[in-house]
Amino acid sequence: MATVLDIAKRNPNAVPVAVSDAARAAGFIEKTAELNVAAGAAPGGASLVGLTRDQLKDSLAAIGVPERELKMRVAQLWHWIYFRGAKDFAEMTNVGKDLRARLAQAYTLARPQVVSEQVSKDGTRKWLIRMPSTGPLDKGAEIECVYIPEVDRGTLCVSSQVGCTLTCSFCHTGTQRLVRNLTSAEIVAQLIVARDSIGDWPDAVPPEGAFVPADGGRFVSNIVFMGMGEPLYNIGDVIAAIDVMSDGEGLTLSRRRITVSTSGVVPQMERLGSEANTMLAISLHAVRDELRDELVPINRKYDIKQLLDACRAYPGLSNARRITFEYVMLKGVNDSDADARELVRLLKGIPAKINLIPFNPWPGSKYECSDWERIERFSEIVYRAGYASPVRTPRGRDILAACGQLKSETEKLRARARMMAEQGIGAEGVYALGDEE
Ligand code: SAH
Ligand code: SF4
Repeated sequence: MATVLDIAKRNPNAVPVAVSDAARAAGFIEKTAELNVAAGAAPGGASLVGLTRDQLKDSLAAIGVPERELKMRVAQLWHWIYFRGAKDFAEMTNVGKDLRARLAQAYTLARPQVVSEQVSKDGTRKWLIRMPSTGPLDKGAEIECVYIPEVDRGTLCVSSQVGCTLTCSFCHTGTQRLVRNLTSAEIVAQLIVARDSIGDWPDAVPPEGAFVPADGGRFVSNIVFMGMGEPLYNIGDVIAAIDVMSDGEGLTLSRRRITVSTSGVVPQMERLGSEANTMLAISLHAVRDELRDELVPINRKYDIKQLLDACRAYPGLSNARRITFEYVMLKGVNDSDADARELVRLLKGIPAKINLIPFNPWPGSKYECSDWERIERFSEIVYRAGYASPVRTPRGRDILAACGQLKSETEKLRARARMMAEQGIGAEGVYALGDEE
């Protein structure tokens, strides 16, 4: 059973206790039980943006649209919201004036608030997004979302939770106090915010000087669930969000270009594969249970053998749909030649890619990133064994758009930015995953 430090099930605004170093040392795996806010539009906000087809249908029925019209009306709204990116009901010219007026009276097409947008010299963008308040005590949860443009693709790294209940010892997000699940609408809204900002709608253009893929394709072509949170602890809403994002009449992202990263929530992996049919990434980071217990404490619940068995059974696994194994390079901890050889041995028989991630330090972190020569040597052993082993190239250094460093409180962000700038520490964040077409 998970160790639960705080029960805030009934009140998503409750602030669970922080995980102190002592708590980590005592071996806590999780901080809180699962927290959900009501699905769909946030109370008070009542925006239709991000809703699933069923939620849209309910919203229309609630303002008196007759049952026989619902399917057609949902299709119309779907097109305007998700294909065209409409921000005003007045744009919906094929919807009758009377219905448009009723819609405008009851609902909005508001996006969550963009608190800040930072653009790196290399074109990486990071948004701090504040979700609408869920109640009188809630100022609105803040999450971060990162866009990484490349020549032939644009990848959006989205969050699935505010904070994370897990406590991986090298991850900054794991120290965040407030933890709640994002609704599917809040997950989808991250993509909408990104597309608004980079002009990725049929009638829009990118802002002056913006860096976007030059291959004539979509500006956001890939999604990775590698922001804040453990997606498989919010699997229902993550799957619902993926359904909206990949819907052929709206946002039309290919499921093969959506990658869900998990720390190893074994019991939910089959469901992800069979229902969402996306690419899978596993945060492995260690090849021995003893070390993985410490780095990725969920390993105490589901050990390496159970995790790799679940990988072998992942629906749709093939050479064309390989699993990505993420491996953070920690100096003197998991980066020896023996570790590399054991990694190769463990993954034998699993169609896999290995993604070596230089460790991103954060204030108070107890690890250092492996030296570059060590990373190269490790990568070479893996490569010689027949695996692609890209090392994530640093991106967005100047705006701290780093994987595992996301932590939403604005003040902390500023403090960290200052500290990092002073120390000359950069950030990385190429999430070049998804298919390789
Ligand atoms: N919770 C999920 C997805 C979010 S974390 C998971 O753990 O897979 C996304 C990736 O960033 C994971 O592989 C995670 O292990 C890695 N990561 C976390 N902290 C990091 C850090 N400080 N430096 C580099 N990578 C980190
Ligand atoms: Fe949570 Fe993933 Fe960070 Fe672990 S690495 S604390 S699972 S976000």
